[in-house]
Amino acid sequence: QHYLDRIKRIDPQLNSYVTVTEEIALAQAKIADERLASGDSNPLCGIPIAHKDIFCTEGVRTSCGSKMLDNFVPPYNATVVENYLDAGAVMLGKVNMDEFAMGSSNETSYYGPVKNPWDTRCVPGGSSGGSAASVAAMLAAGATATDTGGSIRQPASHCGLTGIKPTYGRASRYGMIAFASSLDQAGVLTRSAKDAAIMMNSLISFDQKDSTSVDVAKEDYLQNLETSVEGITIGVPKEYFGDGLKIETAALVQEAIDQYEKMGAKIKEISLPHSSLAVPAYYVIAPAECSANLSRFDGVRYGYRCENPKDLEDLYKRSRGEAFGEEVKRRILVGTYALSAGYFDAYYNKAQQVRRLIKQDFDEAFKDVDVIMGPTCTSPAFKFDSKGSDPVAMYLEDIYTIATNLAGLPGLSIPCGLVDNKPVGLQIIGPAFAEGKLLNIAHQFQ
Ligand code: GLN
Repeated sequence: QHYLDRIKRIDPQLNSYVTVTEEIALAQAKIADERLASGDSNPLCGIPIAHKDIFCTEGVRTSCGSKMLDNFVPPYNATVVENYLDAGAVMLGKVNMDEFAMGSSNETSYYGPVKNPWDTRCVPGGSSGGSAASVAAMLAAGATATDTGGSIRQPASHCGLTGIKPTYGRASRYGMIAFASSLDQAGVLTRSAKDAAIMMNSLISFDQKDSTSVDVAKEDYLQNLETSVEGITIGVPKEYFGDGLKIETAALVQEAIDQYEKMGAKIKEISLPHSSLAVPAYYVIAPAECSANLSRFDGVRYGYRCENPKDLEDLYKRSRGEAFGEEVKRRILVGTYALSAGYFDAYYNKAQQVRRLIKQDFDEAFKDVDVIMGPTCTSPAFKFDSKGSDPVAMYLEDIYTIATNLAGLPGLSIPCGLVDNKPVGLQIIGPAFAEGKLLNIAHQFQ
């Protein structure tokens, strides 16, 4: 009730929720009370959380931030949602996001932009902007989110939160509306590394319903949080401190790394030579996959259908034309072009080759270091409308986060200070399945 009241009072200024599920929340809270009374010891039992509106929720509208799915009520729960139900967590509602998770500012949502609680003239980051703003403003104790190219870590950086994207395949994608299937991964946004560890314990599961889910033994992410960082080797890629990084951001990230050195970590300069190719490769691969994934929204099977179609072609054209926003259309066009017969080798195959090189850079680096540290973003949160008209400027927001998705690796962002009174994040990247180590290292900083 406390959280519901707070949402009513504060969310009109932030717009972080698309749907508040008051009745469901109170019913689930009641069940949690009973479970707690009978000795349930799951730390998430009774904890109020929000789900990004990309996760299917049985009987509750799941819009994906799009007019296309404004009327879509799924008949089933995403595995991630089901996992939190099992843990006894309470769903407060569904939170806002960039349309189909395409964006870095939450300005592309059909339900309007989300504001950054630190400065409401600024964006919260995206695409998981609603998840980040709701947690930062204490309108949820934690939130689920997704990261295809940075959508958990970048909003974590802009809202002063901990955000973790697990290794590709670690969390189930079943019931998570697809954007770019080879990159999409579910994760969480929380107020501390310990909260993230608690949420991760329920998020992670092997799922036969997701063909890329990996059957690797589950660990208890709370277990090693207190391990000292003494003796670990931290790699600092020189490419992450080049042009475009704001001097004040670089200084705070450097200070954080120095702090780890004081705690006994060894710092080593490394190189990820293909870093500059990550954004261009991503903006071929992600649109290509999205153009295929979004072909299912045809006005027939799901969601929006135009009025009085003349014939089938008119139904397709107008349903898609009227319900998709500009950024989604741009990606579908770019992706369809990149996949078309004459261009497939020149664009899509080339981008996949570059992706392999990026992955090899990380493989090489992790022969010598335990984790990699650098900035999450170049600068703190920017003002509304400052990048919205320039897609390339917006695409560069993820310059430090995208390579991790291309390589399938886990990445995390924690707050490391303020620039112009706004938070900035330290990014920690690990080898595959090193989520526990990332959370441990993050916890030692806080
Ligand atoms: N900002 C990137 C994009 O627009 C990443 C989005 C994401 O991670 N979902 O594609």
